Amino acid sequence: KCAREVGYAKYRDLWSPPMAESRRVAVIGAGPSGLVTARELQREGHRVVVFEKSNQLGGLWAYNPRVETDLLSLNPNREIVHSSLYKSLRTNLPRQLMSFSDYSFGCAENVNRLNFPEHEEVLKFLNEFANDFGINELIRFNTEVVRVAPVEFGGNRWLVESKSEELSSEEVFDSVVICNGHYTVPRVANIPGIKNWPGKQIHSHNYRVPEPFKDQARPLYTFCTVVVIGDGSSGLDICRDIATVAKQVHLSTRSSEIEIDHVDESGEVTFLDGSSIHVDIILHCTGYKYDFPFLETNGIVSVDDEGRAVGPLYKHVFPPKLSPCLSFVGIPSQGIIFLGSELQAKWIAQVLSGKVLLPSEDDMLADVEDHNRQLEEAGIPKRHTHRLHPHVMEYMDWIAAQMGMPSLDAGLKEMYWSIYKCAGEVGYAKYRDLWVFDNLAKLSL
Ligand code: FAD
Repeated sequence: KCAREVGYAKYRDLWSPPMAESRRVAVIGAGPSGLVTARELQREGHRVVVFEKSNQLGGLWAYNPRVETDLLSLNPNREIVHSSLYKSLRTNLPRQLMSFSDYSFGCAENVNRLNFPEHEEVLKFLNEFANDFGINELIRFNTEVVRVAPVEFGGNRWLVESKSEELSSEEVFDSVVICNGHYTVPRVANIPGIKNWPGKQIHSHNYRVPEPFKDQARPLYTFCTVVVIGDGSSGLDICRDIATVAKQVHLSTRSSEIEIDHVDESGEVTFLDGSSIHVDIILHCTGYKYDFPFLETNGIVSVDDEGRAVGPLYKHVFPPKLSPCLSFVGIPSQGIIFLGSELQAKWIAQVLSGKVLLPSEDDMLADVEDHNRQLEEAGIPKRHTHRLHPHVMEYMDWIAAQMGMPSLDAGLKEMYWSIYKCAGEVGYAKYRDLWVFDNLAKLSL
């Protein structure tokens, strides 16, 4: 631009780097992603409003004993409960990997405590983080965002419509960062014959404690028989939880012969290997859908039919056509979530202030298409579009490099892989208690 204005002969001497721009930014959600995004935006000099539909911060980490009335969460008119935490949940990563880069999750003070803390501690950590960085003052609690739309397509302003008990309001922002989480809208397994099957079905979103599983007894059974579908973290944790009270717990997984083939009106569940059992409860631990019910982009950003992926998103953050004014934090799964969200937030903050440039729209789109093509060629299912593992380190280091920041601490990388190795060796049920990391002293946190 400068060269065009002052001419080729002079631009080298007359050009000055653009002043950092301050924008008014709406952040949707006060979970870990929204909190760290607010901090990074504020640090970069932006003016921030955080919208949070519930009455507290912490997002998924704010345990809610209540469950939805429809235990499969299929009724579109149900009252939605955000958190999917069950009472016994401990983190699947140790404190050091649940910290932010410059804000430790009590790693030094808790050397003798659980390496993999219980969920209450995570919520406490997030509250302390928000307090220490003055984030609470930026949050409008009990305020749900119901509509986000560009003021005009091709422009740079966004309309945010929100609703609280007292009022509805419409405001215009320069940018919107969406941090609404993606573990609230259940994905349910399709099971042939399920319509006539007389048992009870629940999604893990609506599982809290094992006790209710005692009450399903049929006359001949002391306790009930449960089939858990899915061997992700929730499926494996919940199996062990329920095993303390149920008569039998069977784990049905896609990767094995024990996948359900069909069910019938007698209450039997038949597996692919031909075996069958009488079952009282099927518990779907089958994951969640991406969902942005408030977002209107004329189809520029969309979620695929089954809620498996959102796109197109450059590096899981920027929709090429609407960047940098619209962005997403926390879309990836299976990574180092807190640190990953922090890096995404820093990147957004610096792109918005003009310090860091994004490639052209075409180049970003080409990158997304390339990413999707690679997944397809490798036979990776669509539902893993945003899964970072096993490329989590490359991803985080790539974002850091955009801002001229150093790569992730080598000790943390070593720690991450040692957990995977340990879980492989001692099994998922035991790794949290048996994992030992010799190089703790090397870590900076
Ligand atoms: P969330 O924590 O879901 O927060 C989103 C926030 O947005 C919520 O407060 C919600 O109320 C608000 N919101 C949503 N829609 C609106 C709206 N329209 N208007 C206003 N506010 C809105 N990660 C780990 O790092 N370690 C773990 O051990 C771990 N265990 C997990 C266990 C389970 C069972 C699940 C389901 C996930 C786990 N995760 C874990 C992933 C976890 O989701 C992330 O740690 C983290 O909570 C993601 O933060 P977030 O801010 O992106 O989303």
